[in-house]
Amino acid sequence: MAKILLNKNNLFYNLDVISKKAASKQKVAVVLKDNAYGHGLVEIGTLAKEFGIKKAVVRTIDDAIKIEKLFDYILILAEKSFHTYSHNFHIALNSLEDIDKLPQNSNIHIKVDTGMHRNGISIDELEKAFLGLSKKNINITGVFTHHKAADELTADFFWQKENFSLVKNSVKNICEKLLLPIPAFHSCNSAALFRTENFDEDFTRVGTAIYGYLDNAGVFEFPKLKPVMSLWASKLSTRILKKGQSIGYAGTFTAREDMRVSTYDVGYGDGFLRLNERKLYTTPKGYKVLGRVSMDNLSLDTDDEEVCIFDDVRKLAKVHDTITYEITTTLNPNIEKEII
Ligand SMILES: *Cc1c(COP(=O)(O)O)cnc(C)c1O
Repeated sequence: MAKILLNKNNLFYNLDVISKKAASKQKVAVVLKDNAYGHGLVEIGTLAKEFGIKKAVVRTIDDAIKIEKLFDYILILAEKSFHTYSHNFHIALNSLEDIDKLPQNSNIHIKVDTGMHRNGISIDELEKAFLGLSKKNINITGVFTHHKAADELTADFFWQKENFSLVKNSVKNICEKLLLPIPAFHSCNSAALFRTENFDEDFTRVGTAIYGYLDNAGVFEFPKLKPVMSLWASKLSTRILKKGQSIGYAGTFTAREDMRVSTYDVGYGDGFLRLNERKLYTTPKGYKVLGRVSMDNLSLDTDDEEVCIFDDVRKLAKVHDTITYEITTTLNPNIEKEII
């Protein structure tokens, strides 16, 4: 079976760079949504705990339950039904209408829309949210926002940062008026953290950087990080492809001369998607993917028993004309993970 190797040293290296930038491990919340960007929720959660990280961010309560014992503090981004609850869960409030659905005494982080216009309440709705929540005895433990363009070379990042400063001031005033404790403030994803001089918020929500990627890193001279995941496949069979014979569905690759080819046990069903056939993909050792990728197999011009399909997804992201996030999250969660 294909398998994913997780490089613990690389993960710890990245977490160390991030913790230093954030000023301490306490200020880092690791984003583990979508099966830890395809790396394995429990595997990465366990390693992050071992490193000393106390906070995590997930998408749903079901994900939070799987890592409940690993972290003191879990922020849940997008849950609509509150079938169970734990004191270390903090649930994002994405719109005012959701206040009615929240259980009493729960911990809530209010998401504020500072310009992305995807989720969150507007700045003008803050007081209404605080009043509605405190009436239900809900603990407002955080107020946060998300940047729409932290990894783009535009002014949007600074404009949203400015808007979030207004949010912080407004929240402080409201809390003073209502005699409520000041909640935690957080706005930075990976790119935003590394674009911020003197980070001073309560914590940062880092996803892609812990896995070793910062898209557009070249533009901003971000620190070099180390990819954590590599995908490996095992050989199923070997044959000689004779000159003129073609391989795979529709025979899109034809041998120019006799060549040894082998089939490996990874395919688009595992999330290694069919390649854009106008572009070539070669493995880190330089083996070419020949013809079309099948559901459970692909063919390479080698007969090695085990082949590393990738150990850095930036090249594959280029071939697919997408971002590194999409490559790793598309991998089938059932692929076996091994920590090295
Ligand atoms: C996914 C996500 C993050 C992490 O973003 P990265 O760019 O991977 O660091 C942070 N905050 C929110 C709200 C997210 O949805």
